Amino acid sequence: MEALRDTVVKVDLNELGRNMDLIAELCGPDVAIMPVIKANGYGLGAVGIAPTLMEHGAVYLAVATLTEALELREIYPDYPLLILGYTPQRFNEYVVEGRITQTVVNFEQAKALSDCALSKGKKAIVHLKVDTGFHRLGTSDREELLKMAQLPGLQAEGIFTHLALASGEDDIAQFEAFQAIIAYLEAKGCSFRYKHVADSIALVDYPQFHMNMVRPGALIYGLKGFHRGSIDVRPCMSVETRISQIHTLAAGEGVGYDYLWKAPQGGARVGTVPIGYADGYPRNMRDKGYVTVHGIKCPVIGIICMDQMMIDLSACPEAREGDIVIVYGDGSGNTMSIEEASKLAGTNKNEIIARILARPPRVYVK
Ligand SMILES: *Cc1c(COP(=O)(O)O)cnc(C)c1O
Repeated sequence: MEALRDTVVKVDLNELGRNMDLIAELCGPDVAIMPVIKANGYGLGAVGIAPTLMEHGAVYLAVATLTEALELREIYPDYPLLILGYTPQRFNEYVVEGRITQTVVNFEQAKALSDCALSKGKKAIVHLKVDTGFHRLGTSDREELLKMAQLPGLQAEGIFTHLALASGEDDIAQFEAFQAIIAYLEAKGCSFRYKHVADSIALVDYPQFHMNMVRPGALIYGLKGFHRGSIDVRPCMSVETRISQIHTLAAGEGVGYDYLWKAPQGGARVGTVPIGYADGYPRNMRDKGYVTVHGIKCPVIGIICMDQMMIDLSACPEAREGDIVIVYGDGSGNTMSIEEASKLAGTNKNEIIARILARPPRVYVK
């Protein structure tokens, strides 16, 4: 179907599949890969990328919320889906009926989910969340974890924790605490099919933390953020738009709200492009960001509007209305990489891509 808009997120499914293959190669055959496709697949479109991830060996798919899980469940009636976040107890019915694997963070939540499942003559599949220091979700109380694992309405299929990545020493301390808790639970008769710790950074930095499942997010999208290990994943996403209109300005004429940018001596050629902060383009890119037209860097000028922004085309006299504008590319050909964008906007790479909101259509190329 046609995108019906000039501003699109282009996803290269071949590169996405290649990134998955590299992760699988690094982890070896005994480690299950559970790509994290929360936040609409970090902005790439969860439903659009899921088939490629499945074809390339995803054993499970992880999301953050119930709504994200239900969207996938409608399309994939049987694929294993884990909700990494907390689901309010009043929605337990959806978890059970949807056969969605739920993270359980304490006994109270686990008991309510167990009761809900029993009332329907079913079992809810859960992964126990162990708090080894992050203090976001989970419990560190081994007796509580044991009681959770033994609830009659639950099938405790997995157990996991999350690293704060504060320092090498802290990471090892968290991992050892996690292992000690698993050893305790196993000695009490529990057995878990999946044990997992590693997000993208830990997956590359700490092969010894792979256990038998890993949870890469950023890495599958080709974003690298680790320091020790290495893996040759490549960006699989770009954002493109087209010039809507071009204005020729005399010296001193302003552009946009508050005229914060003014044409220099000799005037300027200013292009309007239909992408703004409501599409996820960071508003604080003003005076820092640039886009690429015909391979030339063109600065973003003036205040970035909700739906549009202006660019200085003075260095690109061949630019015409309708010409393609690369907002984010892979960094080659004078394009702005996600990494550079994150530095300029003062955030991390995950936020740059996840904040590309629902509005721009996703286009998948293969
Ligand atoms: C988001 C998330 C991940 C993936 O994180 P990346 O840094 O993108 O790899 C893994 N585990 C949990 C619990 C998460 O919330």
